[in-house]
Amino acid sequence: MRRTQYLLPTQKDDPAGVEIASHRLMLKGGMIRQLAAGIYDILPLGLKSLRKVEAIVREEMNKAGALEVSLPYVQPAELWQETGRWDGNGKELLRFQDRHGRDFCLGPTHEEVITELVRANIKSYKELPINLYQIQLKFRDEIRPRFGLMRGREFVMKDAYSFDADEKGLDESYQAMKKAYQNIFARCGLTYKSVMADSGNIGGSASEEFMVLASSGEDAVVSTKAGDYAANIEKAQSEEFIAQLPSEKYTKLSKVATPGAKTIDDVCSQLSIDAKETVKTLIYKADEKYVALVLPGDRQINEIVLPGVLNAKKVVPATEKEVAEITSIPFGSLGAIDLQKHIPKISTVVFDTLVHPGRHYTMGANEKEFHFVGAKAGTDFEIKNVAHMHLVHAGDKQVGSDQALQIDRGIEVGHIFKLGTKYSVDMNAMFLDAQGKQKPFMMGCYGIGIGRTLAAAIEQNHDEYGMMLPPQIAPFEVAIVVVKYKDEKQQKVADELYENLQSKGFDVLLDDRDTSVGVKYKDADLIGVPICITVGPKGIEQGVLEVKIRWKQEKETIEPAQIESFIRSAFENGKRV
Ligand code: ATP
Ligand code: MG
Repeated sequence: MRRTQYLLPTQKDDPAGVEIASHRLMLKGGMIRQLAAGIYDILPLGLKSLRKVEAIVREEMNKAGALEVSLPYVQPAELWQETGRWDGNGKELLRFQDRHGRDFCLGPTHEEVITELVRANIKSYKELPINLYQIQLKFRDEIRPRFGLMRGREFVMKDAYSFDADEKGLDESYQAMKKAYQNIFARCGLTYKSVMADSGNIGGSASEEFMVLASSGEDAVVSTKAGDYAANIEKAQSEEFIAQLPSEKYTKLSKVATPGAKTIDDVCSQLSIDAKETVKTLIYKADEKYVALVLPGDRQINEIVLPGVLNAKKVVPATEKEVAEITSIPFGSLGAIDLQKHIPKISTVVFDTLVHPGRHYTMGANEKEFHFVGAKAGTDFEIKNVAHMHLVHAGDKQVGSDQALQIDRGIEVGHIFKLGTKYSVDMNAMFLDAQGKQKPFMMGCYGIGIGRTLAAAIEQNHDEYGMMLPPQIAPFEVAIVVVKYKDEKQQKVADELYENLQSKGFDVLLDDRDTSVGVKYKDADLIGVPICITVGPKGIEQGVLEVKIRWKQEKETIEPAQIESFIRSAFENGKRV
């Protein structure tokens, strides 16, 4: 591509109000332009890189036996009503009506559409398994679109859906996708972890996320140093190193006045104790029932697990008003001793796994401005129901081992998920099995954010001068910077080199602008072209080429005949070396 004929509006200054590197560099480097919140124009340079990511994804999906389709972006409400997601999904689902007043939405995902397609076309186990995928636009009216393509409202996703006759088949389809994902992210040059994820209440049985480790990541990844455990914070479980718990100040049950204390911090500072010596009692509403959840005072609750723990569809914290309706005890004075006697409306009390039987705790005395100290777990208060409900802290102990857990930031670039029969049952998508019986399809779904993957690659590969993408997804592989393109000699050498490298299959940007060489170098660094070749009077006179690899400091001088092998060895195995 000749720069003078290319749309590449690079910017000198950093764009305002941008928080992370990939967003800043994609704007500054002329890859994208924001049209509305979370909605972007993709410029030629950005599209080049995105297409390279897509090509890798497509190749690996095809290799894994998946078939490409293209499903509509505009989807009729009726399908979403079949699964209950028309009303069940919140405002992320953008709904609208056509001229006849019929309801539609912009597709945030395609489970409904694909299940309808398979329901209509596959009748027998003999036609299974099948895996269909597409690389296509999605729309989610995200509450907080930000970070450019990382969390857009309109974005491109590769989504695949597998259909099998049974659990065993689903497991094979899932493993094939897992392998494909490993190949894809390795080929994109990403350092990632695949982590266990929560399958939520969709009814799925297994789910893994592919996390690119980066400080700007919105997700937290819990893992061991040894690498034998990695989970999304929502799924992660932990124990505590008992020896590291604070020594107990109070070991005998007594009631103490805590005037004005409303929070755990207030109680701790009044009694000079650590929050780990306290337990707090939270009131939640599980569907229509009130429940109390008891956990150490220093811990936060992992709300994602609550529907599973309480076997309920929807679990939310009870509002202050609701608590006031069932008891006159103020919120900060609630405690586990005789709780259900004080508040009969509470149907269940569940204790977190970190409330250790035998240890003594401080807790509300179910009386305004009083607390119990030295309440022995299992003795002074009964522990009947126990569940893992706390969010893991860094430094916790791995369950069933002596290893400490660490927490890193991660960007979720991909997600694989065993859906089971949730959608096929809801949508009555059945096939005939070998015994001639009607059975619902066993489904899996598998997503990769194309733009998010590129953004994550930039997060992991940049420096103060700009992007430093690995050659396989960099927009161009080679830049030719011509010192003075108007000079006949330089023009001839540059044009020949340009034609020659293109004929060898390289993706080349010829900077033929009538501007200073400094500006041209700056742009080549900004957009992260892996190899930069200078064509100028000095090199021409000496019959050599001056080359620089983007991720190395020094310039090198080589014979023109060696340029091809020079580039190929810098790109060995498709990776930068
Ligand atoms: P998140 O928790 O980040 O919102 P999600 O769980 O909603 O992600 P999935 O529904 O599993 O995401 O979608 C599959 C993939 O699509 C994600 O792994 C991610 O790469 C991409 N993706 C999801 N939401 C967005 C978005 N708003 N912008 C860009 N990519 C996205
Ligand atoms: Mg989301």
